[in-house]
Amino acid sequence: MDELSFILNEMGEHRDEYFRAVAPPIVQTSNFAFSNVADLRKSFEDEYSTWLYSRGLNPTVEILRKKLAALDGAEDCLVFNSGAAAIFAAVLANVKSGDHIVSVKNPYTWAMKMFEVILPRFQVSVTYVDGTDTDHFARALQPNTTLIYLESPNSWFYDLQDLRAVAALAKKHGIVTIIDNSYCTPLYQKPITMGIDLALQSATKYISGHSDTVAGVLSGSRAMIERIFNSEYMNIGSGIQPFNAWLLIRGLRTLPARLERITRTTAEVIRFLQNHPRVDQVIFPLDPSFPQYELAQSQMTGACGLVTFYLKAENCATIETFCNSLKHILMAVSWGGYESLILPKCAGMPPESFDPANPAHRSLRLYVGLEDPDYLLTDLSRGFEAINDLS
Ligand SMILES: *Cc1c(COP(=O)(O)O)cnc(C)c1O
Repeated sequence: MDELSFILNEMGEHRDEYFRAVAPPIVQTSNFAFSNVADLRKSFEDEYSTWLYSRGLNPTVEILRKKLAALDGAEDCLVFNSGAAAIFAAVLANVKSGDHIVSVKNPYTWAMKMFEVILPRFQVSVTYVDGTDTDHFARALQPNTTLIYLESPNSWFYDLQDLRAVAALAKKHGIVTIIDNSYCTPLYQKPITMGIDLALQSATKYISGHSDTVAGVLSGSRAMIERIFNSEYMNIGSGIQPFNAWLLIRGLRTLPARLERITRTTAEVIRFLQNHPRVDQVIFPLDPSFPQYELAQSQMTGACGLVTFYLKAENCATIETFCNSLKHILMAVSWGGYESLILPKCAGMPPESFDPANPAHRSLRLYVGLEDPDYLLTDLSRGFEAINDLS
């Protein structure tokens, strides 16, 4: 595997071709000109390896593709204008009418909506399984199963699947495997090297790292990626634009440094939360208290900044007061940027259906960003003090 610093600083870059500029140019063009008909004909025959039209290949995007594929330990990758587009293309490329998918339960919202709303119109069915036990996948297989869809860890309670075991099961039955690897990024988990066929991630999160771009990555074998390029990628037409690709290249330069910093701060925040009397439990895949801690250690080398905790609260208002009192930690969806975020589960339900006996209803997802640890702990203390004032 190529060295990380080489991938991020040099791979795919050809500075002699653009004035020895250290930062690559944004090749903001829709089309490319040819000097003779023979070359144009060659390009029509093989758009996957020529500059023809930027819905297909583009030189700025190419630099990014080389780096991202190498990070995944994959032969090739495609970069989309969103993580959702990467999911859509990857799934669509591997089902036809009458096929069956086995998916981990509660996959990312827009994967679920594809499975529930779009695929049934084409007679593709889905069975959801609790993915913490590989046997559940084995038992859900049908003769027409063509795809196993994974997300490990998922992005709220961090349930894991045993990637090596599921990959082996799928290979035995000739089934394609796809994983949503957004939580770990390829820096901290490399599913392709564990036998998974296609690894995707929302690059909106850690790869961009600055909450200013929406993008997605899909990595796999050259054969699979070429097939998807020539069909779903070109047809859906949601490839990344050159400027956004340039922002992701910039994000990649600092990815390891950001993740290291976030990892260190997250450990401090977890310690603080675990010792706080108003917190029931902290959920984090690389904490020894996590039920799948050993599996996490065997397939992940890091876990970054997403952590969930259960607040001790009798009602929804307590949780709302906690969140509303924070001054620096922003209340927002997404994660992976420079700024810390809080997201209460109860925001996704009518207040009347809040049940304090259900810990999930009292859960808050915290994303730890790049701020000073004390800055964040002070802000969290502000939230805790506000709810103590209530009682
Ligand atoms: C954000 C996210 C996505 C979707 O990515 P977009 O870039 O928002 O389209 C997919 N999966 C997970 C786990 C995510 O967090």
